[in-house]
Amino acid sequence: MMKIDVLTLFPEMFTGIFGSSILKKAREQGAVTYNIVNFRDYAENKHKTVDDYPYGGGAGMVLKPQPIFDAVSDLKEKAGSGSPRVILLCPQGKTFNQKMAEELAGEEHLIFVCGHYEGYDERIRKYLITDEISIGDYVLTGGELAAMVVIDSVVRLLPGVLGNEESHRKDSFSTGLLEHPHYTRPADFRGMKVPDVLLSGNHRLIEEWREKESIKRTLERRPDLLEKIELTEQQKKWLEELRKEKKSLE
Ligand code: SAM
Repeated sequence: MMKIDVLTLFPEMFTGIFGSSILKKAREQGAVTYNIVNFRDYAENKHKTVDDYPYGGGAGMVLKPQPIFDAVSDLKEKAGSGSPRVILLCPQGKTFNQKMAEELAGEEHLIFVCGHYEGYDERIRKYLITDEISIGDYVLTGGELAAMVVIDSVVRLLPGVLGNEESHRKDSFSTGLLEHPHYTRPADFRGMKVPDVLLSGNHRLIEEWREKESIKRTLERRPDLLEKIELTEQQKKWLEELRKEKKSLE
């Protein structure tokens, strides 16, 4: 079972997300436990302050090292053996992607540290955490939404969480390509029709159509992804055809 601890100053923000949908189901079926910790509870000073003015002056407040160091050390102790990944959410971290989600899904214990205010005391970065993750090149007010994004994408990969293992193996990025389009009933919705091949019942042709559409979609929207993966001979042929088609339309 994966153990997830989250250090935050706003624990209430996690109630909705951990109590809904797949993340809730994952906990109920014993794939994961969530423990939300307010690191203010670890502050040693009388007023329970967790931030202070930056040395050298300047705008904004900085998160003090003591409450975060002590919270992490307490959580490690409670977990007993093993060395958890201690993940700092931060816009300067490595940009999160599906490969990182897959890698984290193999861990037993993850501790997420959510920042707020201007930033963290640098010693937290240097001496406490194992990973720094950003969810994109923009600045949020706090690390909570970023932690939720990472946790959601990791938990859905845990064995047995998505009833059908196939569904995440074929997701966009898992294959290195964007996923093919989907259709459901009715076959004709207000004159907008489902491609004939999907109604044919011929599984080989359907698989072929999906694979080709996946390549087409990736070429149209994220051609950079095609540079990073090893395509099969058949996929290369389709890609060549699609590129020619695209050129003839330009
Ligand atoms: N002054 C910081 C900087 O320029 O790097 C930004 C601090 S931001 C206002 C406050 C907190 O939000 C950060 O400590 C981090 O936990 C979180 N955060 C903001 N943007 C993020 C992003 N793109 N990915 C992950 N966490 C983010």
